[in-house]
Amino acid sequence: MNIQNLARENVRLLTPYQSARRIGGNGSVWLNANEYPEATAYQLTEQNLNRYPECQPVQVIQRYAAYAGIKPEQLIVSRGADESIELLMRAFCEPNKDAVLYCPPTYGMYSVSAETLGIERRIVNSKKDWQLDLPAIKEALNGVKLVYVCSPNNPTGNLINPDDIRELLAMTAGRALVVVDEAYIEFCPKASVVSWLSQYPNLVVLRTLSKAFALAGLRCGFALASEEIINLLLKVIAPYPLSTPVADIAAQALSDQGIATMRQRVIELNARRDQLIKTLSACTCVTDVYPSETNYLLFKLTDSEAAFKTLWDQGIILRDQNKQPGLKGCLRISIGTQAECDAVTDVLQTF
Ligand code: PMP
Repeated sequence: MNIQNLARENVRLLTPYQSARRIGGNGSVWLNANEYPEATAYQLTEQNLNRYPECQPVQVIQRYAAYAGIKPEQLIVSRGADESIELLMRAFCEPNKDAVLYCPPTYGMYSVSAETLGIERRIVNSKKDWQLDLPAIKEALNGVKLVYVCSPNNPTGNLINPDDIRELLAMTAGRALVVVDEAYIEFCPKASVVSWLSQYPNLVVLRTLSKAFALAGLRCGFALASEEIINLLLKVIAPYPLSTPVADIAAQALSDQGIATMRQRVIELNARRDQLIKTLSACTCVTDVYPSETNYLLFKLTDSEAAFKTLWDQGIILRDQNKQPGLKGCLRISIGTQAECDAVTDVLQTF
């Protein structure tokens, strides 16, 4: 029996997402997944694991709604923002008929989720300055139901021009949703478009606890949108997407104290990032360090392959971006502890 032949064709052909954990490496310094470098300790307060959890834990929903300045009805909590990326496709895209559009270089899961579900991928590369190519997007919109815009963008670190997002929302009104992925927005909170939700019925905002909230291992993310969109997503989400311990810890992370701690982390990481920009720029093997509004930096090297390997061999794991359009010679580094950043620059200074 040939099991391969039983599998769906698009799954047979699929290259799964190359997550930092899947790529592996024998690292001691992990700077390849944009995680927060240190763990906060939590105590579980809920012990009743004999019971199924709430589908949408009320305290998490209420606290995140208050934090984001929206109504609880405008929010769904999911297994990371990754699950929300896919829920949107499951709720809005007919396989083999509708399309999703995104603008590389950008986050890889828009593509992988679409491919997994058998949804056409409409790819419009961003311009040289990593802003949206609006005329090209306009040309490509036929049949598109979802446009994913990552702002700040992973891996380039830049914000998407808000006027362009407004133009995109107007251009797609009545035909497609614009999904603004704000996974890194805590590092530049003023840039959020969440306050636009009341103005644009076709806007969705994605958020996560994986970055500034330092909880990548928790797997907790959110989609923020109109009540109508949220109700559609609630139809397709799993019956119990978040385990009881996840909801318990997420609620603690979203307490006043948890949010204050997050904001303190952001101040420290942003300062360390700005320092790292200077140190990297001074390395002779580095030709460009791009501005960033996030907890990572994209930088270009004279020989990125050799630098990546030299660091890798010393247990320092960065993220290679060579294969993304327009990013030849580029690596991405997450802002780690001061010691971790120093370990990288020590190697690159002598490289
Ligand atoms: N969007 C972007 C831009 C990301 O970088 C990531 C994390 N790599 C995600 C979404 C997914 O985040 P989560 O951990 O919440 O699934």
